[in-house]
Amino acid sequence: MKLPELTYEEVNEAIAYNPDTGDFIWKKDVSNNVKAGSVAGSLKNCRHRSTGQIKSYLYIRYEGREMVASRVAWLLSNGEWPAQSVQFVDGNTTNLKISNLKLSKFKSAVVSVDGRRSYKMSKDAQRHYGLKRYYGISVADYAEMYRSQDGKCSICHQPELGKDRHGNIRVLAVDHCHKTGKIRELLCYACNSMLGQARDNKQTLLAAIAYLDKHEASDNLGNPSPQTGLADVCTDYGDNPCAER
Ligand SMILES: [Zn+2]
Repeated sequence: MKLPELTYEEVNEAIAYNPDTGDFIWKKDVSNNVKAGSVAGSLKNCRHRSTGQIKSYLYIRYEGREMVASRVAWLLSNGEWPAQSVQFVDGNTTNLKISNLKLSKFKSAVVSVDGRRSYKMSKDAQRHYGLKRYYGISVADYAEMYRSQDGKCSICHQPELGKDRHGNIRVLAVDHCHKTGKIRELLCYACNSMLGQARDNKQTLLAAIAYLDKHEASDNLGNPSPQTGLADVCTDYGDNPCAER
């Protein structure tokens, strides 16, 4: 049986990728022979499917998987596995510098100030392929969900305000059941992460509420204003729920 792909976090924990040199280094000991700080990956010769040419590709073995290094480079640079196969701009399959990698079929070159060319899918294409690949829904389906939720998270009922690492406001995440894969609703990054961190465990989430209540109650007991019991503990989770009234 084919193992599921490792997550960005799992790979990033073990492997460091240098986008300027194309080198991969182990961040931790992975076996008795392979120690943290050593170079990751080994070259394998493969015959190209259409041209029949034999070329060398770097593969990295980890956690029972054999990962193509160009895909790992893409994952560690972009935070997600490439939606398309990764190609080599100069045709040299051992040149794993990020400037030499591009996704097939998406050739809109981005030339940065230092003259380096990189190839990226458009934002729309990324969203399209991400949605299709991971959730099986189209951009139109997403837009319909967004409209029906009035652009707000289904848990905190706020629009997304968090920014991604490029400083752009995030889009609401497509929340899905991790057991069945069924799509639920759109959630903001914080609420979606909260469910993920709690592993969708309702007991954990309820226990967290009880925990907050308990400490809020004990905070209020230390408050000089008269308290008559739990019923007086503020339940108005406004901007400043602990303000004296
Ligand atoms: Zn939310």
